[in-house]
Amino acid sequence: MRKHELASRLISFLRKRYRRELEHPWHDDPFKVLVSCVLSQRTREENTEAASRALFTVAATPHELARLPLRKLEKLIRPAGFPKQKARRLQAISKILLEQYGGRVPRNFDELTRLPGVGSKTANVVLCYGFGIPAIPVDTHVNRISRRLGLVSPNAKIEEVAPALSKIFPRRYWHVLNRGLVLFGREICRPLRPKCSLCPLSDLCPTGKQKLKPKKTK
Ligand code: SF4
Repeated sequence: MRKHELASRLISFLRKRYRRELEHPWHDDPFKVLVSCVLSQRTREENTEAASRALFTVAATPHELARLPLRKLEKLIRPAGFPKQKARRLQAISKILLEQYGGRVPRNFDELTRLPGVGSKTANVVLCYGFGIPAIPVDTHVNRISRRLGLVSPNAKIEEVAPALSKIFPRRYWHVLNRGLVLFGREICRPLRPKCSLCPLSDLCPTGKQKLKPKKTK
């Protein structure tokens, strides 16, 4: 009962506070979403954006990317780090898309997770932001905030978070979760020193209640 009340308050809050951001068109070309997500592994957002921008001006389709000389590809994506590993992975993915899917990105979870270097988070990002299919990508913000709010157990494995959230939140709101929680995680429920005193969910959040508990004086 408490989780569903919390889920409903969380969705109302996110939709109200980030209304403008959530209204923006949020589908993009699935191939670009997939490539950006692979580039984003183990790096910061600004590095991913720089590498994606550089790469997409030269190669924005599986065909173009598969034909790029490896050295050139590594150079283009260097801002995202691990250029050798990511370049090989991107070329392997592009070749599979060309050979097995007619140059298209598959639109289901199982096929996506069979691509090299594509785990459940990347697959859900592609479904959600590439195809507009309801899915819950669990990035660092979604993972942290779900645990702080008690929506998932603190001991849950990361791959258990999306299935747990999908049982609590109605499917029609799944697309709000990732985008909304990323914004919420940057602004209020930050990784270090969350601003619990400003958070409208603090009366329901176990972490917030703990942090805001008056300190006992000796
Ligand atoms: S009360 Fe604090 S820990 Fe809980 S969701 Fe709000 S900011 Fe995050």
